Amino acid sequence: MNPITYRPKTWNQVVGQDRAIRLLQTLLSHGRLLPRGFIFEGSYGTGKTSTAYLTARALMCLTPGSTGCGTCASCQVIDSEGIEGQNVHDFKEIDAAQNSGVEQARLIAAPDGWGEAPPSIARRRVTVIDEAHRLSMNAWDVYLKPLEQSIDYSAYIFVTNESQSIPSTISSRCVRVRFGRVSEEDILGLLTATAARDKVPYETDALALIAHRSAGAPRVAMKYFGQVASTGRITVDFVEALVEDTLENKVLALWEAILTKNQKTMTAITQDITGTNTVAVLIEKLCTTYSQAIREPKTELDKAIRVCYHDVPATTSFFLKWMAVPALPADAALLFTFELMMASNKVWNKPTPKVETDAAEELFT
Ligand SMILES: [Zn+2]
Repeated sequence: MNPITYRPKTWNQVVGQDRAIRLLQTLLSHGRLLPRGFIFEGSYGTGKTSTAYLTARALMCLTPGSTGCGTCASCQVIDSEGIEGQNVHDFKEIDAAQNSGVEQARLIAAPDGWGEAPPSIARRRVTVIDEAHRLSMNAWDVYLKPLEQSIDYSAYIFVTNESQSIPSTISSRCVRVRFGRVSEEDILGLLTATAARDKVPYETDALALIAHRSAGAPRVAMKYFGQVASTGRITVDFVEALVEDTLENKVLALWEAILTKNQKTMTAITQDITGTNTVAVLIEKLCTTYSQAIREPKTELDKAIRVCYHDVPATTSFFLKWMAVPALPADAALLFTFELMMASNKVWNKPTPKVETDAAEELFT
């Protein structure tokens, strides 16, 4: 079996992005006064590009106020050939990672560029710019011009996973649509439906493990699904063998080991992480999971981590001892202590969290 690519073809196939889809459908069905620029932002594999294609199909649709009628000349050619088909004349996709310069931008968005010409059959001409954060400043200047003008027959969709790199002059003129990480539950639903559809035998725990290791990205989950499914059945053993856990999950497991004083597991996980990452990466991840747990505790583990916040001096002395394990150099201990203090200071003005996990509290008394 070939690895399966997650590429939704209809609005309701986009998994776990209900808010983004609702926003777009509302905008598109009102039809009039649509903005010319859209920014689709969010992490890898969460459905941005697929949704950009669906949005383009809707913007191109000849039926007024439709999110893609499926019957007009524009929808029909897209539905039979795919949006990148050679007879789809009013759609273009630019990869800014390959074409970041001003020349390519002019070919599209200058007054005599492709994107600014009237459409040949569709309602609008649509350009999707992938990896938009890679565009040069001069290229952005070229795109700024059309965004300032109210021409209704052309639109631009900028897709990015680094929205902070997009100039504010651009983002203030676009509708920004955020694509969050998808919940494990939603991803598990997608995997279960796919396994049933393709008649792949599976263990439920194995699908849950794939969902857990896919970092909130349905596309990543489907790639893993395809890899494991090529063995003929999806078992926990095969997932363990074929799918690497995410760094974030490993760091959370490390926190769990820290809080249960399991020195052996702590050392094993630390050595595993620092085998492929620098110590600085590990420390950075420890700090981000730490401050996330304090700001927005969601799980029992988060609540336990909050105990560290409760007593910073005890926590840092504990870390100093732990950092003496062979896997980490001593200077990392100082750096981490400093970072931990900084993280604590950032949340210091919040009310003191209540200690909810007795077992963890015991560690620092
Ligand atoms: Zn249509």
